[in-house]
Amino acid sequence: MTVLYWLRNDLRLHDNEALAALPAGTATLLPVYCFDPVSLGPDAYLGLPRTGPHRLFFLLETLADLQQRYAALGSGIHFVVGRPEEILPALARQLGAQAVHASTEHTTEEAEAEEALVVALGPQVPLVRFETLTLLHPHDLPIGLDRLPLSFSKFRFDVAAKTSVRAPLPTPRQLPPLPAGFAPAALPNASSIAAQLEQPAQIRSVPDRRSALPALGGGETAGLARLHDYAVERHLIGRYDDTRNEMLGEAFSTKFSPWLANGSLSARQIWAAIDGYDATHGARSKGAMQLRLELLWRDYFRLLAHKSGPDFFRWRGLREQLPKPTRPDQAVFESWADGRTGNAFVDANMRELAATGFMSNRGRQNVASYLIHDLHQDWRWGAAWFEHQLIDHDAASNWGNWKYIAGTGTDVRDTAFDVAQQARRYDPQQRYVRTWSK
Ligand SMILES: Cc1cc2nc3c(=O)[nH]c(=O)nc-3n(C[C@H](O)[C@H](O)[C@H](O)COP(=O)(O)OP(=O)(O)OC[C@H]3O[C@@H](n4cnc5c(N)ncnc54)[C@H](O)[C@@H]3O)c2cc1C
Repeated sequence: MTVLYWLRNDLRLHDNEALAALPAGTATLLPVYCFDPVSLGPDAYLGLPRTGPHRLFFLLETLADLQQRYAALGSGIHFVVGRPEEILPALARQLGAQAVHASTEHTTEEAEAEEALVVALGPQVPLVRFETLTLLHPHDLPIGLDRLPLSFSKFRFDVAAKTSVRAPLPTPRQLPPLPAGFAPAALPNASSIAAQLEQPAQIRSVPDRRSALPALGGGETAGLARLHDYAVERHLIGRYDDTRNEMLGEAFSTKFSPWLANGSLSARQIWAAIDGYDATHGARSKGAMQLRLELLWRDYFRLLAHKSGPDFFRWRGLREQLPKPTRPDQAVFESWADGRTGNAFVDANMRELAATGFMSNRGRQNVASYLIHDLHQDWRWGAAWFEHQLIDHDAASNWGNWKYIAGTGTDVRDTAFDVAQQARRYDPQQRYVRTWSK
């Protein structure tokens, strides 16, 4: 039996249900990664590449690492530029594949891509979907998705507390070989991808020594190393609750997000490391509890996106709230995006984002609030800018957080931040503002 494996945001060997569930009779396996013109192409609001340079180069590092890891297990990866629903059925026919395996996604466009593939494959070749992205396995939840509460606290206590987190699946020791006579295409570079998509090439920025990201680069190897370093070597989980609102340096928060976003690190692997931390330190620390809570927020946004479908991305609220009136002004938006608003705290954060692709959670909340509630611009423009810039972009977490701050998420309260007060509280000596003053 030949199986095609469509690689998506599951770019790892560890804790990977799609690999663990390969039928025993799988004689050959062809893992395929598609550089999809939709996720690399322009967004609907700003016309910018949805995957900007920070994330694109992180992705290429991730794939280069994965290619080596697959090769070490007797397999390889085939890279293609194009739409999955066009490429995969043609490959399946060429190889006489019996099934296509894929990690299922929870946001609208990604789910639509799966449906388009199902249609294009036809009834002979099933698309078999696996859950690799969440912490809580959707099959283990005590309620159906239609009953997901429109409140994180209710989700936390009524759903998450009643669901056990599965132990991470082991890394396979070997993979089925590639189909006979099949020479996989090499990993393309950024300019060849751009040329094939007829898009301008993205330029990699020079690493900035002020960056809060650990200098490890993309890939499962780096993601697991960060987890080990953070949780085991330096015991930073114990301090997480005290430092997570800081903004400078690589140690104030985990920085797991870039690896989590493309699936090169599994949320369950992180959960197991938190369990390990608690076991060695003999107690449930505050840091460990807070970190577990943040991982549940990630799951909640995913489940909410799944339940809400296209409504998750629309201007109106999930409870039919109307956002505050906007005064659309491109020049005002650009001053925010370029870090030229005149508000030193906001501008410093926006400069960090542009230079590194990362911004702390505290920064993200404040710049989003400022764009929406002080500059009166459409929250979806801000979400599109973040999608272009962020190294850790995750559709559910990004659009879900923006929607929440716009007051159009699950909450009906005013979600505006007092940015001046926040700057005084979180950057009292203005160290952060000085660091990113230019
Ligand atoms: C406007 C806005 C946009 C955001 N966009 C994204 C995004 O595209 N991708 C993304 O991963 N996170 C996003 N976040 C959430 C959060 O800011 C980042 O996850 C966090 O800053 C990443 O750094 P870290 O890994 O060091 O986080 P830590 O503080 O170490 O948290 C550990 C993990 O918990 C999860 N997490 C923490 N806070 C949140 C949250 N508020 N919502 C969802 N998950 C959370 C993340 O997976 C994170 O890696 C956004 C937040 C805001 C306010």
